[in-house]
Amino acid sequence: MNDTLPPCPECASIYVYQVDALLNCPECGHEWVAQDADDIAPATRDSVGNVLENGDTVTVIKDLKIKGSSSVVKVGTKVRGIRLVDGDHDIDCKVPGVGQMGLKSQFVKKVLG
Ligand SMILES: [Zn+2]
Repeated sequence: MNDTLPPCPECASIYVYQVDALLNCPECGHEWVAQDADDIAPATRDSVGNVLENGDTVTVIKDLKIKGSSSVVKVGTKVRGIRLVDGDHDIDCKVPGVGQMGLKSQFVKKVLG
């Protein structure tokens, strides 16, 4: 569907539409070649849709049981310096009091600012 089209690289308009292999921006008139969707790594997004980047600080939005232990990462835990990785758990990070572990992006919220 069209909601996966990237924003215009010239003016960042989100009203981009596609005609065959060309993407068109109705706001500034820019045209460019659509990349194969497989070539574009999908952005990793947090629970509310913010795009996550390496080095971001996030908070955990629900208690997360840690596999193989009785420890729980409590809701509200702040995790600094995340690293994005491929996989089911797409965030690699060091959780205070727990250590290095993987988190799922849908269970965190980016700390903006
Ligand atoms: Zn544009």
